[in-house]
Amino acid sequence: MLQKPDTDGLVIVTEEICQKVIDRDLAFAAVRDVFGAMARGDAYNFPVIREAIGHEDALYGFKSGFDKAGMVLGVKAGGYWPNNMAKGIINHQSTVFLFDPDTGKLKALVGGNYLTAIRTAASSAVSIDQLARKDAKVLGMVGAGHQSTFQLRAAVEQRDFEKVVCWNPHPDMIPNLGKVAAEIGIPFEAVSREELGAQSDVIITITSAFEPLIEAGYIKPGTHLACMGTDTKGKQEVAAELVAKATLFTDEVAQSTTIGETQHAIASGAITQDDVTPIGKVINGDHPGRTSDDEITLFDGTGVGLQDLAVAAVAAEQAVATGAATRVSL
Ligand code: NAD
Repeated sequence: MLQKPDTDGLVIVTEEICQKVIDRDLAFAAVRDVFGAMARGDAYNFPVIREAIGHEDALYGFKSGFDKAGMVLGVKAGGYWPNNMAKGIINHQSTVFLFDPDTGKLKALVGGNYLTAIRTAASSAVSIDQLARKDAKVLGMVGAGHQSTFQLRAAVEQRDFEKVVCWNPHPDMIPNLGKVAAEIGIPFEAVSREELGAQSDVIITITSAFEPLIEAGYIKPGTHLACMGTDTKGKQEVAAELVAKATLFTDEVAQSTTIGETQHAIASGAITQDDVTPIGKVINGDHPGRTSDDEITLFDGTGVGLQDLAVAAVAAEQAVATGAATRVSL
């Protein structure tokens, strides 16, 4: 049978073009909308594959899904190569493949590294927008690595923050985040973690920790936490006691309770799956979100494939619209 001629071709969007065509506002809207679609049942993530490949200590895998509302089908392939830094490239490496949901044809190849950083930052920003107190003034950053700078830039746009306080397990990394705060023009101070808890109205955790860094006793009433670092079994950034005390929200409940920050409170029996609400319900107006000024809210951002596909689809659209994309035929 004759194939239809390939008039459009496959769109290629490089890392460099992604940085030019997708900004924080576009990423925020794409992530917010796909969280809403997930909560309505219009979009779903497929089971995640993640394997240690026995070479270069690398973790390799696939995150994929289908958003029927946005008509986005695809997969993000890649993972974590811990020895890359020594080779002059970042440790997280990924590429997004987008397919035509009507035909299964490969539509776009999009660099996934920058997109991963902005979609993760957009996720915590959406949680701050939906759940933090409107009068939040102090932002606490726990973490000062590659992701933290993106987190900070997206977070400060959500409330009238007057100050950023930071604590990191490796203090030598803190000045990197301080530089970004200076660029933004917001006062920045390195503090103890107890002081961070006492001062912060919003806290973002974005570390690779395997033990709690923040205890329940550090946190003041009314705080919103966005826990973004825990995306694997065994990882943990905040005490299970704090998780049990908070009103819990997440991107995807199944992922949160197995590989996210709520996994430990679930394992100890302190909470059940029913205690964790998809943030999409709040976005859709089907859950009130924060209900009092004293409530501690906690968003467990585990990172789902649909977030990657959502921002990649916008990047591909923008690249085509601005003439920045390259087209090839397979
Ligand atoms: P990075 O290597 O640049 O920085 C690592 C951060 O974790 C630093 O703050 C460092 O001080 C801290 N850290 C390192 N080892 C630690 C340990 N053993 N105990 C406590 N803290 C430790 O990494 P990054 O790119 O900034 O990513 C930070 C974390 O975010 C990673 O764990 C990564 O897997 C996770 N992440 C999550 C998502 C998501 O969607 N939820 C997306 C991307 C990355």
